[in-house]
Amino acid sequence: MFSVARVFSFSYGHRLYRYEGKCRRLHGHNARVRVEVQGEDCAALDDQGMALDFVKLKDTLGRWLDESLDHRVFLAREDPLVPLLTDAGDPPICFDGNPTAEAFAKLIYDRALEEGLNVVRVDFWETDKCRATYSRP
Ligand SMILES: [Zn+2]
Repeated sequence: MFSVARVFSFSYGHRLYRYEGKCRRLHGHNARVRVEVQGEDCAALDDQGMALDFVKLKDTLGRWLDESLDHRVFLAREDPLVPLLTDAGDPPICFDGNPTAEAFAKLIYDRALEEGLNVVRVDFWETDKCRATYSRP
C-alpha cells in the first residue's frame, strides 16, 4: 500500500473553557499538521509514478488551512468570549466542545474528506511535545 503525507503549519489562538489548568487562559500556538493520504487506488501508482501529487494536498487542504484557520481564534461555542469577540468584529471559530488538539485533528480529517482526499491519518502537534491523532476508524 502506498500513502503520502504532507506537513503544514499555522498559528492560532484558543482557550479551554471550564478547564482548571493554565490552558483556561486565552493563548496561542504554532501548530504543525501532518496529513497522510492514499491515492484513489492505494495499491497502484498513477502514470506519473505517484500515489498522490503533493501539489494536490497543498492546493486543497493547504489552501483551506491558510485561508480559514491561520491566525484565527477558536473557542467552545458556549465560551462567554464568543459574543465579545464577535461584537469586536473578529468572530472566533466555534467548536461544539473545547478547541483541543484532538478536536483540530478531527476537524482537519473531516475537511480532507470533504476535499475528496482519501485521508488515512491526521497528526496535530499543538506544541513540539504534544500531539493528537485522528485516523480512519
Ligand atoms: Zn493551547
